[in-house]
Amino acid sequence: MSQTPAIPISGDVPPEIAVAALPDDDRVWVPQADGVFFRPLLLNRITGQWCNLLKVTRSGIVSRHRHPSLVLGYVIKGKWKYDEHDWVADEGSFVYEPPGEIHCLRVPDDCAEMITFFNITGAMIYVDENGRQVGYEDTFTKIDLCRAHYAANGLGADYVDRFCR
Ligand code: FE
Repeated sequence: MSQTPAIPISGDVPPEIAVAALPDDDRVWVPQADGVFFRPLLLNRITGQWCNLLKVTRSGIVSRHRHPSLVLGYVIKGKWKYDEHDWVADEGSFVYEPPGEIHCLRVPDDCAEMITFFNITGAMIYVDENGRQVGYEDTFTKIDLCRAHYAANGLGADYVDRFCR
């Protein structure tokens, strides 16, 4: 009986990532807007996908935005909602946001802090009340924000490289 040969493992497979999602060091959180921070987990330069934690430490509107591609989320702490929908995403909630959707993210008044894991592909297109574009983010703008923040706070610009693939 001849055995099937073992499938060789390529040396080109990128390294895995395994980290505590909630960092011990607060410097890992990258400020993005007033009371809004993100913590990178995976920044994929091939597919344009990125995974991060979003932390909001105030109530009120966070952003109005449009998604060209799908978004998946899991609420770790606190709660939030979209003005366009009746549901509230609270601790333990899973959220699927379909491509093409425009919505306004809001943290309710009775929530002091929310933290949510988001898996985003493509871009975040920020819009005003009339749907006109006022901002844009993708995995590359995220990488740039991380580099600048980590260079300034002592972690070092290359700290972000551990999350890049
Ligand atoms: Fe969204």
